[in-house]
Amino acid sequence: MSEPGLDPEARVYCAAHPHVETGLRCSQCGTPICPRCLVMTPVGAKCVSCARARRRAALALEPVTAIAVTAVSLVSALVLGVVGSLLLHLSPLAGMVLPFITGLLIGEAASRLDRRRGHLAVRIIAGAAVVLGFFVMQLGDFIVLGPAELLGSGMVPLLLVNGLVGLIENPFSLLFIIIGVWMAVYRAG
Ligand SMILES: [Zn+2]
Ligand SMILES: [Zn+2]
Repeated sequence: MSEPGLDPEARVYCAAHPHVETGLRCSQCGTPICPRCLVMTPVGAKCVSCARARRRAALALEPVTAIAVTAVSLVSALVLGVVGSLLLHLSPLAGMVLPFITGLLIGEAASRLDRRRGHLAVRIIAGAAVVLGFFVMQLGDFIVLGPAELLGSGMVPLLLVNGLVGLIENPFSLLFIIIGVWMAVYRAG
């Protein structure tokens, strides 16, 4: 007696379309599929649910990438913030340009680390780094002159509050930060 699955005469019908006879099967789970519902992937024809699972896996952000993006964004924000604070001595223009440059550079770096997949988390990290860079710029002199003293002095919260008050007092700074964050988020996408 022949098994039904192996019988060449046995009719196979699409799992999603019970009236459509088919000789095709999902390359992953073996579910019968028909030309109406199969999804072509680089590794062959698949059923809808296998194709969706594959896409989800491709879209997931690996922890390694998340850590790399966070580390690079943090370091970049620190470095660019300090550079910006030094440039502020030369021209107040630096305060406007820095968030923009930071956004561009961090967004680009984050996007490359993410292999241009534009993960939302990557965009948020890049955007947050621009804000951090701005505050580092506000604290820049202290960070350059003595980071240990700065942290030990308990002045950091006060300086951050000062920075926030400065933002409210000077809506232009806020505007530049928003532009910078937008640059990063857009660039990282
Ligand atoms: Zn399948
Ligand atoms: Zn079908």
